[in-house]
Amino acid sequence: MQTSAVLFNERDRPWKPTLTKIVATIGPATSHPDVITKLIENGATIFRMNFSHGSFDEHATRLAVIREAAARMQVPVAVLGDLCGPKIRVGKTPDAGIMLKPGQDVIIRPDAEECIDGPTPVLAASYPNVATDLKAGHRVLIDDGRVRMLCVETSEDEADRHALCRVTVGGRVTTRKGINLPDSTLRIASLTEHDWACVAWGVERGLDFFALSFVRDADDVRTLRRRFDTVCTEEACGTGLYASGFAPTIPIVAKIETPQAVDHIDEIIDASDGIMVARGDLGVEMDLARVPVIQKQLVRAAHALGRPCIVATQMLESMIDKPTATRAEVSDVANAILDGADAVMLSAETAVGRNPDLAVETMRRVADATEQSIRENPDGMLARRRLRDPHRIMPALAHGAWHMARDIGAKLIVVWSQTGGMARHLSQNGFRVPILAFTSDEKAARRMCLLYGVFPLHCSGAPEHRSDFAAMADKIVLERGLAQLGDPMVYLAGKPLEKPGAVNTVAIRFAGEFAGTKNNPIVD
Ligand code: ATP
Ligand code: MG
Ligand code: MG
Repeated sequence: MQTSAVLFNERDRPWKPTLTKIVATIGPATSHPDVITKLIENGATIFRMNFSHGSFDEHATRLAVIREAAARMQVPVAVLGDLCGPKIRVGKTPDAGIMLKPGQDVIIRPDAEECIDGPTPVLAASYPNVATDLKAGHRVLIDDGRVRMLCVETSEDEADRHALCRVTVGGRVTTRKGINLPDSTLRIASLTEHDWACVAWGVERGLDFFALSFVRDADDVRTLRRRFDTVCTEEACGTGLYASGFAPTIPIVAKIETPQAVDHIDEIIDASDGIMVARGDLGVEMDLARVPVIQKQLVRAAHALGRPCIVATQMLESMIDKPTATRAEVSDVANAILDGADAVMLSAETAVGRNPDLAVETMRRVADATEQSIRENPDGMLARRRLRDPHRIMPALAHGAWHMARDIGAKLIVVWSQTGGMARHLSQNGFRVPILAFTSDEKAARRMCLLYGVFPLHCSGAPEHRSDFAAMADKIVLERGLAQLGDPMVYLAGKPLEKPGAVNTVAIRFAGEFAGTKNNPIVD
């Protein structure tokens, strides 16, 4: 039986996994196989392709590069497709963008194809009702609010629908930057034609996660889920990790970036497989000053319902063009982890930045140092998470495993988690040691890449007996230095190993306990 060499096992490269997962957005700066390889080596476990930017051809090329690198390195790596949803964007601009100056008039047109520079620049907007829903005095915020305008007047004349705006904070506007209209009531579908095209494209190519932008309530998520329910087969998509039991589907990450979403957070989380604190839009749709406390509130809400949470946007922003991060940025990454984020994300830093590999490396180092401090202070952050379903077997086993691990000072949790479900329950307990999760389902291995503390390991098949599994795990653990001889570990498995939902046993074992037995390949 073949196992993937998930854990960097080159002897000269000490494996320093971070429990916190790192999501890296891909773009022009991350298209080359060497760069992708470096990002994986530096700790990125999920790559995000933003369907708001770039063409399908570009996405396809990058997807192939990632899949090829992951296969060569034998590392499970997930790819998340980020759907625009009801997010409004400017159209194509001239290559250099359009420089807007304070006091300048700008025309926004729903019908225009492209933006036009000139004394009164014209911005095309991907929202047909812009001339109706904008009212004089409403704010128009571009590129996460970097450029700001106020609406002066609108024309609903069929032949000349537009909104006239005046710039209050100037700056350069480039192709497909986002537009926020926080004062306007919008009538916009939760998924557009373009989104459905992206869904079809991504399902066909086996993307591991979809994120949905600008979710307003649980129905937005359910609309996407229903499509997966009809188009997903088990063979093409695998089974759901969280929200959908074992039905074939693709996990959905709801991006929380509007006040409506914050108001409906519990029902949105319940319908989703995870959430993203999308601070870019959140910071313009709501009072920027409240973003840090909302972040904490959202992380807590996700954990209360047993879902992972990604914290995103501007985490190491200055690394877009500089080789080092600011003190404030590294503090932000550390604090997100202390808040309990399962994953931290890089956006433009890796999509268009000058130092994508350094940005990931910086994040990994901050995560490493922060997790170290958490380990040294067992009464500190990341307290055991609330058990949501006290009468269900898997959460109860995970919960019990947490107590056992703490009491015996376990160095590692080992689990056979065929669909990733048990791994998720374990992850939700906030273990301070790695959870080594075996599966023979490659898709499940990739989906586990989002789970805090979980290191998925894909095997080509399952051992027949649990004792063979223990022996196999023993060998890998010792060979790769994940634990030392005699170190206590907590084991979880079911019977048969590959049966979804079958995990029913927790045991304490010691690394090397099986050495010398007939089942242990170490003696081969
Ligand atoms: P979102 O609200 O979904 O985060 P965004 O516009 O902020 O949208 P990010 O994915 O955060 O986009 O990326 C940050 C910036 O990096 C983008 O605004 C864009 O300029 C650039 N970028 C990202 N992906 C690509 C791509 N595939 N091709 C070209 N530029 C990209
Ligand atoms: Mg962004
Ligand atoms: Mg956004």
